[in-house]
Amino acid sequence: MTESLLKEYLDEAQLEQWHQLVDPAAHIVLTGHAGPDGDALGAALAMYHYLKMLGKDVRVVMPNLYPDFLAWLPEANRIILAHARPDEAQALMQEADLVFCLDYNAPNRLEEAAPLLLQSPARRIMIDHHLKPERFCQLAISDARASSTCEIVFSLLWQLGAFSQLGREAATCLYCGMMTDTGAFTYNSSNPALYFMIAQLLLKGVDKDRIYRRVYHNYSEKRMRLMGYLLYEKMEYLGHRRAAIITLTRDEMTRFAFRKGDAEGFVNLPLEIKGTRLSVSLREDTEKALIRVSLRSTDTFPCNRMAEKYFNGGGHLNASGGSLQMSMEEAVKLTRRAIDDFAEMLLGHPVAPVQHNE
Ligand code: 5GP
Ligand code: MN
Repeated sequence: MTESLLKEYLDEAQLEQWHQLVDPAAHIVLTGHAGPDGDALGAALAMYHYLKMLGKDVRVVMPNLYPDFLAWLPEANRIILAHARPDEAQALMQEADLVFCLDYNAPNRLEEAAPLLLQSPARRIMIDHHLKPERFCQLAISDARASSTCEIVFSLLWQLGAFSQLGREAATCLYCGMMTDTGAFTYNSSNPALYFMIAQLLLKGVDKDRIYRRVYHNYSEKRMRLMGYLLYEKMEYLGHRRAAIITLTRDEMTRFAFRKGDAEGFVNLPLEIKGTRLSVSLREDTEKALIRVSLRSTDTFPCNRMAEKYFNGGGHLNASGGSLQMSMEEAVKLTRRAIDDFAEMLLGHPVAPVQHNE
C-alpha cells in the first residue's frame, strides 16, 4: 500500500530506453548545475554510489565549486570542478558514453561549462524537477511537481529495484538533497510520499539531525555578523507591498570575509516577517560583472513569472533566480518597479491607491 505513494517515472518503453542507455555504458559522467546546491550534489553523489555498485567507471563533474557546508557529503572530495580543472573535465566528457544531467533543465545552467556538455559525443539522461525542460537529452525524466531531484532519483532507484542494495552513504546524499530543496521540510514538503522516502532513508541508517547540523549550523562568526548587518542596515522592507529587498555588494563581502555559500539562506529571512510574501536578494557576483538575483515567496506568489519578466531567469513558483547586468543602484530601482508591477498579486486582491510609507 505504502509503495503506491511513489511515482513510477518510467513507463515500459522508457524503462527499456533506460537500460539501453545505462547497461552498455562503461564511462559515465554525472553533472549538476553551476553553483551546485545540496540537491544537485546529493543527486549526483547518490547516482555515483549506485552506478559504482553496478561496476561502472563513474565521475562527477560540476561546473564550479559547491559551498563549504556540503563538503562532508560522502565522496564529495572526488568531484571534479570544470572551473578548476578544465582539461580533465573536458577529457572526461569526451570519453564518456553517457552523461547524466541532474537538477538542471537546460545546458545554459552549466554556464561556462555548457560547451563541455554540448560538444561531448555522449548520450544524455536528464533527471530534474524544473519547469520547461529543454530538449537536449535522449531520455528526460522531468517532474516539476517533485520538491527535489533527489526525490525523483529515489523513486527511480526504487522502481529499478536498486534501493534495497544501496548503503547509508547514498541514502545520506538523497536525504541531504530533499532537505536542502525544501528548506528542511518547510516548503514544497507536504507530499506524503516524501515521508515514505524519508522513512526508508532512515532505515538505511541516515542520521538526519547530524545532516541538519552539518548543513545549517556550519557558519563562521563573520557570516553571522554579515547576516546581522544585512538585516539591520540593508533590508528594504516594503510593508505596503508585502515584499522586501536585500542587497549585498562586493565591498561588503570583503568586509565580512565572504566565502562561497555565505549568502545561502539570506533571501529567506525577510519571509519570517509576518505577512511578507516576496523576498528579493540582489548580490554582486564575486567574479563576473553581474548581479545575482534570488527570489523567494510564500503561497501562490509566482517568483518564476517575476524572474522571467524582470531578471532574465526563471525557476519554481516559490523559489527563482536570474541575473542583471547593471549597477546595484539600477538593479534596486528595477526591483522596486517589478514589485510595483506585481502589487496586485502580492496583496492578493486588487490594489487600492498605494499608500507609500517610505
Ligand atoms: P537561487 O536563488 O537559489 O539561485 O535559485 C533558486 C531557483 O531558481 C533554482 O533552483 C533554479 O530553479 C532557479 N534559477 C536560479 N537562477 C536561474 C536562472 O538564471 N535561470 C532560470 N531559468 N532559473 C534559475
Ligand atoms: Mn533542485
